[in-house]
Parts: sequence; C-alpha cells; structure tokens
Amino acid sequence: MKIDILTIFPEMFTGVLQSSILKRAQESQAVSIHTINFRDYATDKHKTVDDYPYGGGGGMVLKPEPIFRAIESLNHAADTRVILMCPQGATFTQEKAVEFSKAEHLIFICGHYEGYDERIREHIVTDEISIGDYVLTGGELPAMVIIDSVVRLLPGVLGNDTSAVYDSFSTGLLEHPHYTRPCDFRDMKVPEVLTGGNHRLIDEWRRQQSLIRTLKRRPELLEKMELSPKDKEFIEKHLVSEL
Ligand code: SAM
Repeated sequence: MKIDILTIFPEMFTGVLQSSILKRAQESQAVSIHTINFRDYATDKHKTVDDYPYGGGGGMVLKPEPIFRAIESLNHAADTRVILMCPQGATFTQEKAVEFSKAEHLIFICGHYEGYDERIREHIVTDEISIGDYVLTGGELPAMVIIDSVVRLLPGVLGNDTSAVYDSFSTGLLEHPHYTRPCDFRDMKVPEVLTGGNHRLIDEWRRQQSLIRTLKRRPELLEKMELSPKDKEFIEKHLVSEL
C-alpha cells in the first residue's frame, strides 16, 4: 500500500510514523508513507495556502490551487481513495478501516482554519471522513488515527495474522477480556476455564464474554448482528440470571 498525506505540518507525523508498528510496517515494505507539504505547491512568492472567505465572516479558508497541484503531482490512478479529513464527513468505523485496507493507494488531505474551498471537496475528493462529533484544529490527528487503524490490518503487519480478527468491532461485538500471568495476583484469580487447556471451552467462554460486554456497553451493536441460535439462547439465559 502507498499512503500520501497532504499537510502543512508534516513534522507532526514524525513521531507517529517513526514508532512501533507503523515504523515496522514501513521497514517491512507493507506500506510506504509520505508527507507532502502542499505549501510547496502554492503559486505565489509568499507560499500562501489560505485566504479570506467570499461573502465575509471569520476564519480563513484553504485555497484550491495548492491542494489541486499537490494532488496532480502524484499522478494517482482512478481507483485511489482521496480522503478529506472533515468533521462533516461520514464517521470512521472499523468497517471503513477494512475497506481502506484493501486499497492500493490512499491520499489524505489535512485541513486547517475554517475549512476548504468547496471545489476541493467537489472535484478531487472520493471520501469525506470524520473521526467523531467534535472539532479539532486540524486534520493531522484524524489522519494519524485512520492510518494507524488501516495499516495494522495489512497482511503481515501484526506479528500474528489472527490478532486483528477478534478485535472489538471486527466480529461486530466488543472483544472478550484478556488475562496474563500471574494466575493469582493479590488473590485476584484468572478464570479457571482459561488455564484448563480446553480450547473449545475457551472459545465458548470468550464468545459469551463478548456477548455480555456488548450487551452491557454497546447494546445497539447487537441489533445490527445476525446472532446464532446458540448466542440468542445464551443472551436470554444471561438476561434471566441478571433479574
Ligand atoms: N469549520 C469547520 C466545520 O465546522 O466543519 C471545522 C474546521 S476544523 C477547525 C479544521 C480542520 O480540522 C478540518 O478542515 C478537518 O480537516 C480537521 N478536523 C477537525 N475536526 C475533525 C474531525 N472530527 N474529523 C476529521 N477531521 C477533523
């Protein structure tokens, strides 16, 4: 996968892209990630990227020329996803992360100030994405969030290819609880089933814990899922036992 990030603050990405799994993913060539300062594509000698809004009002607006020219310099293919970071966009989800992880080339555009000239949105963008219903000062942090969640899904990036399979939201449910050694810590014990070595019982326990967690914390997720008769029976029994 190739990822290009259009930003006027490329230095913000240094720590994130040069650490941990994102660093290793680039070293193993699962992904190549580049930042492009679209100020370099401004057309005037002052390298201006923003201007006053037509019609008046507060705040500055990102101009179209530098962003159009920066994108054109990439010569991207027709199926490239050009993703605008935008609080008005579709809310980012694990499903979107999976969808983006299948693309060969992603381009992120990080906004600032009041926002963008509408022609950028209308003519070069394929996806407008928000990371939640709140407003940040710029699109860099949202782009980092999305890149992190997408890159960890690329084949070979996580040490064990199955580690993303049971993550919260991947199955439609929240993930089951985890325990590690010691088995008894200050009299707080690990559930016996996990130390018994019976993988059928462990899988069943994990599924049930996921169902209980989702029921308690995010019941609306269950409504969107096709539950098996066994899951339904477990939920009904659990609800009765809670009464
Ligand atoms: N005036 C804009 C509005 O009301 O929609 C908000 C602009 S915001 C201060 C500046 C930039 O930060 C946005 O253009 C976008 O790139 C980024 N941004 C802010 N909040 C975001 C969010 N929740 N998700 C994605 N990008 C966001």
